[in-house]
Amino acid sequence: MTSLTELTVAQIRDGHRAGDFSAVEVAEAFNANVAGARALNAFIVETPEHALHAAEQADADRAAGTLKPLSAVPIGMKDLFATKGVQTTAASHILEGFVPPYESTVSQKLWDAGAGMLGKLNMDQFAMGSSNETSYFGNVLSPWRSNDGSNAALAPGGSSGGSASAVAARLCPAATGTDTGGSIRQPAAFTGISGIKPTYGRCSRWGIVAFASSLDQAGPMARDVRDCAILLGVMAGHDAKDATSLNLPVPDWEAALQADLRGKKVGIPREYRLDGMDAAIAAMWDKGAAMLTDAGAEIVDITLPHTKYALPAYYIIAPAEASSNLARYDGVRYGLRDLSDGAGLQDMYAATRAAGFGAEVKRRIMIGTYVLSAGFYDAYYTQAQKVRTLIARDFAHAFTQCDVILAPTAPSAAFALGERSADPLAMYLNDVFAVPASLAGLPAMSVPAALSADGLPLGLQIIGNMFDEQGVLNAGLALEQRAGFTARAEKWW
Ligand code: GLN
Repeated sequence: MTSLTELTVAQIRDGHRAGDFSAVEVAEAFNANVAGARALNAFIVETPEHALHAAEQADADRAAGTLKPLSAVPIGMKDLFATKGVQTTAASHILEGFVPPYESTVSQKLWDAGAGMLGKLNMDQFAMGSSNETSYFGNVLSPWRSNDGSNAALAPGGSSGGSASAVAARLCPAATGTDTGGSIRQPAAFTGISGIKPTYGRCSRWGIVAFASSLDQAGPMARDVRDCAILLGVMAGHDAKDATSLNLPVPDWEAALQADLRGKKVGIPREYRLDGMDAAIAAMWDKGAAMLTDAGAEIVDITLPHTKYALPAYYIIAPAEASSNLARYDGVRYGLRDLSDGAGLQDMYAATRAAGFGAEVKRRIMIGTYVLSAGFYDAYYTQAQKVRTLIARDFAHAFTQCDVILAPTAPSAAFALGERSADPLAMYLNDVFAVPASLAGLPAMSVPAALSADGLPLGLQIIGNMFDEQGVLNAGLALEQRAGFTARAEKWW
């Protein structure tokens, strides 16, 4: 039999139901992989007992005939989700030691569906970053190594880099991620796995540490499209505790999965073909279009004219919201309290924030405070909001001509750790293909499609219309079936 840690979520669910193995065996196998892979630094906290406890329940439920949708499936939880009784830090020093007395809506839904938790996954601090280098707990390593002979340690992408690394290295069959401007899609692309960011509002944000509230969305990261559909079906749903939660029924995305795209139109946005685009990325994009044609779709040329303003608008709006959201970390309520500057209230605020936030977080707070300040609000923040509306309109117009949009997920394969950390602009540029869909609140997914010349995974992105996760998943499945991506990182950890 294949090793249990090679199985997908669907295979674990179905195999357990059929009595091929026990849930406890599955949990033990993944717990062992987690413990054996500490060199990747993918987890901040390991919770083997949580996974085992859920597994014992799953085995009891099987005996009683009361199996749940995710019985026997252990998962990794990004450390941005509040987990009752388990430290939740957003990979920051300021939240170190914070043990939430409550559970986020999304994680609660996963536990209610029978899933167990293998641990809390490392990430970029407060989800700010594209490489996992901003974590207070040290960067996550990608399990991948390039074949260029350098043997350099590679970034797993970010901010959900722990999730990506852990799934790619078979430390968990699936994990949660969050995506504010690409943090599910870009790390999925860098590590050769799949991930979907649903329509804004599909998953409740309640209990997820806030970065930029008008952009933040939870979503699954897994080995294939079917697993993404299964997990998203559990994670999504209306929640009265989140005012922006969509009050719509959750479709059975898995049941309606199908790769026949006859009658569908796939838009290729011409503005995404950047000057000097990496040849391997351009070639993969063309091949992706050919695969979707093979699945029956018609390719149409579309235009998203305001694309070039998406990145600048995102890097105004996201920091603006972050600076406001992060005002709550003041040393009074959560985690760290630093009294080293004196006993006064202001002294405590300043010392706590100076010691507790990392450099990238401080940079975002300063940018955000600046663009929201009285003299600059209209010039920057209001202007960025107007641009955001234009970008959403571009997409709305494009979706009168096509059903889904095909684009690369990121402009390059994974880069080496340290390569871009000194240059924030170079780092931000990595999000160029990811942020437009975030600004417009649209569902978008990354599917592994090819290897770069250096033998590293490259992802293709499908962007769908509002609420059309099914269209995104189906096009993703058509790509997955034709790309036949089976490459994996050779074990060195
Ligand atoms: N890399 C982007 C940023 O640093 C996106 C992060 C995210 O989606 N959380 O803001």
